[in-house]
Amino acid sequence: MNGPRRQRIRARSRVLRQAIDALDYLASGTLLTRTKVCGRATCRCAVDPAARHGPYYEWTRRSEGRLVHYVVSADQAQLIALAINNHRAVQRLLAAWERETAAEILQEEVAAIGRSRASRRRKSRETRPSKSGK
Ligand SMILES: [Zn+2]
Repeated sequence: MNGPRRQRIRARSRVLRQAIDALDYLASGTLLTRTKVCGRATCRCAVDPAARHGPYYEWTRRSEGRLVHYVVSADQAQLIALAINNHRAVQRLLAAWERETAAEILQEEVAAIGRSRASRRRKSRETRPSKSGK
């Protein structure tokens, strides 16, 4: 495939690669924000939900096939949240890049099949006895 269609597809995949390149930090897993009660009966947290301790940030991720839990600081949680969002963005971008690649590769295939069918049709018409020869 040549020409403007291929150039458009190439340009779109270049934009997708640049978007991936522009991302920094990549993480998977889940980040939970929790507050806790300490269990002391005299503590305000026992009666007032707003007085619960925290927030605490817990990051759960898969590492070498196992789930691992980390308690992280607020600063770390901020970066992890960014990294998890980036991970989702990369997956969307990869899916789009995959579609563009398939469109580019299959367009050649479709064009080739179209051409060979057309030439087969032409040949079969040529071998069919002509109406005038009845
Ligand atoms: Zn407490």
